Amino acid sequence: MDVVFLGPPGAGKGTQAQRLERLEGLVQFSTGDLLREHRTAGTPLGRAAQDYMDRGELVPDALIIEMMEGELDRTNGGVLLDGFPRTVPQAVALDALLARKGRRPAIAVLFDIDLSLIQERLEGRWTNPRTGRVYHERFAPPRVAGIDDEDGGPLIQRDDDTAETIRKRLVVYREQTEPLVAYYRGQGRLYSVDATQPVDVVSAEIERVLHRRTGERRA
Ligand code: ADP
Ligand code: ADP
Repeated sequence: MDVVFLGPPGAGKGTQAQRLERLEGLVQFSTGDLLREHRTAGTPLGRAAQDYMDRGELVPDALIIEMMEGELDRTNGGVLLDGFPRTVPQAVALDALLARKGRRPAIAVLFDIDLSLIQERLEGRWTNPRTGRVYHERFAPPRVAGIDDEDGGPLIQRDDDTAETIRKRLVVYREQTEPLVAYYRGQGRLYSVDATQPVDVVSAEIERVLHRRTGERRA
């Protein structure tokens, strides 16, 4: 089974993807983390993506689709996609890619959250730039401020988690990514979870969805 995490920035997709990777044996891809790795390495893609990311805009579809084709071609078995697709053309490209690999269309888990909660989640987010692991200064604090519990590495606040860029990213979400909700719902592939609940409760809800879906597909 292949799973897409859909929802606004700050809804908790990265947090849940890291937890579920361990539990469900799905290989996780975060397009944001991949793009940040390209930026750090100074690749042509990283340089092309930089200005869009800094402005809170989407990186052009062609670049993202090419990057994800490369990643998914090297993978066998189920994947969990965090942050991809983010536009309808990206979703169509993903369907075609999975079909080419002889896989069924992915299901989408929608992280349902009131957009008024997003600002607080993103302004308090601390990220380990090496692993992509995230904390929150109030909701999920590390044991020692500024230090990752797992690898002891430094935590940073992302350049695009500022009030102004967050506002821009939410507009972009509404205009370009939210249409995917209708896309997946129309094809009977959308499952919604209440992303306002505590992290453990959201994880349990996602696991229920995945297990129910596995049962349906076997039936
Ligand atoms: P996304 O990947 O959707 O942008 P993240 O997983 O990075 O979201 O979460 C955004 C911020 O909110 C992080 O600081 C994270 O620790 C925190 N967070 C994630 N899930 C929850 C939750 N269920 N309740 C409270 N805070 C959360
Ligand atoms: P968040 O976790 O807050 O939702 P991400 O780390 O997923 O943010 O993405 C950061 C930035 O990377 C986005 O604002 C956008 O510029 C770029 N990006 C990530 N995924 C995509 C995608 N699928 N299509 C276009 N741009 C993307």
